[in-house]
Amino acid sequence: MPVGGKESTELVVRGERKRVPNEFIDELASFLGENLTVDYEERHYHGTPQNSFHKAVNVPDVVVFPRSQDEVQKIVMACNKYKVPIVPYGGATSIEGHTLAPHGGVCIDMSLMKKIKSLHVEDMDVIVEPGVGWIELNEAWGHYWRNVCYSLFWFTSCEAVLPNGDVVKTGSRARKSAAGYDLARLIIGSEGTLGVITEVTVRLQKLPSHSVVAMCNFQTIKDAADVAIATMLSGIQVSRVELLDEVQIRAINMANGKNLPEVPTLMFEFIGTEAYALEQTLLVQKIATEHHGSDFVFVEEPDAKEELWKIRKEALWAGFAMKPDHEAMITDVCVPLSRLAECISVSKEKLDASPLTCLVIAHAGDGNFHTIILFDPSQEDQRREAERLNHFMYLEKELGIESLRTMKRIKAALDPNNIMNPGKLIPPHVCI
Ligand SMILES: Cc1cc2nc3c(=O)[nH]c(=O)nc-3n(C[C@H](O)[C@H](O)[C@H](O)COP(=O)(O)OP(=O)(O)OC[C@H]3O[C@@H](n4cnc5c(N)ncnc54)[C@H](O)[C@@H]3O)c2cc1C
Repeated sequence: MPVGGKESTELVVRGERKRVPNEFIDELASFLGENLTVDYEERHYHGTPQNSFHKAVNVPDVVVFPRSQDEVQKIVMACNKYKVPIVPYGGATSIEGHTLAPHGGVCIDMSLMKKIKSLHVEDMDVIVEPGVGWIELNEAWGHYWRNVCYSLFWFTSCEAVLPNGDVVKTGSRARKSAAGYDLARLIIGSEGTLGVITEVTVRLQKLPSHSVVAMCNFQTIKDAADVAIATMLSGIQVSRVELLDEVQIRAINMANGKNLPEVPTLMFEFIGTEAYALEQTLLVQKIATEHHGSDFVFVEEPDAKEELWKIRKEALWAGFAMKPDHEAMITDVCVPLSRLAECISVSKEKLDASPLTCLVIAHAGDGNFHTIILFDPSQEDQRREAERLNHFMYLEKELGIESLRTMKRIKAALDPNNIMNPGKLIPPHVCI
């Protein structure tokens, strides 16, 4: 990645011409060498989100590709010294504009930090750098355990470079800890606003010996949500419960040439031994029938399961295929499970009353649902309508203003120069 290309900073932020000092770039280049670029194409690529309505009003001034924690530390310290914004950049799969660089600055692309640092087979965990993808991780794990698959995973601890350059290690590899604040979750959940993660310990889980995938249709979205709740409350060990509304199913039919009934639909995955997974499936079939569910189907063959799950996996892309020239505003709402049916029903009433095409998809077992609001970006009234609907499901309603203020205080304490992903996560009107 050679240094060169068009001069940086052609773009204007809030009417002010933004420029990072040359000596700052020189300082970075002194230890990054070729792993730094100011090439416009590269900066534009890194500053433009995929499949997101969020507009790039700027691009990063420089993109860097560190190879070690030591290099990340030097980059962060230089940014703090010159008060230059930092945007950490992983797989860039986030769909809500997380990797935008509205204030320019340095985009830290983690793709060269790809070491699997240690694999603890007996503890079923692995320590990796942030550039390691899940496919590579599964391959590495499979190498040690032939014929056995392992699947994801969650984090127990991490190492991160804080905005002042300090390296923090959160906790140990122990599965459980009651020692002090839960810094790992704080930093991992901060979306790059508190530090740059350079290492994570990931817990792994053995894939179950058997699984069943099931699907069922409903007359109303409330019936579908009620079944998801009743299933969770019954104590059934369901590993996934996904809810798709009738608009989402229509999108899937259009995108994939399918002929599914265009009604609210639930998809389940049950895991365990063959007998156990089947028993759980039949119990949920009974619950679904009690809530006007119909066409309950389930499959156990690997190819058939793959085919059925494809419906869910491709749901987001199917939504985009429905209106190819439109953009999507995507909301992400989490509510207590008991409130899920009510929240989805009320949201759905508002969405159905809108002239825009809106899709609902929910990780119903977690009380989490997304709405995908499609709008024509060239039509100002459509953008305003999308924002109105989006506002209805706003972060502040989910968290409350006091939680947001607490986040802002933590941010101010750790990042007084506001260099880490400035302008992200905490809405600008929150004051402390
Ligand atoms: C089709 C689809 C389905 C999805 N389904 C789910 C789902 O079921 N559940 C769910 O939870 N999520 C889901 N997501 C969201 C997905 O989990 C996120 O897109 C993903 O976790 C982001 O990882 P990334 O490496 O691509 O991060 P990026 O998109 O690169 O970055 C995300 C944010 O993290 C910051 N960041 C990146 N790397 C670092 C680092 N090393 N240190 C500090 N900050 C960093 C970035 O600055 C940015 O703010 C889905 C996304 C897609 C596209």
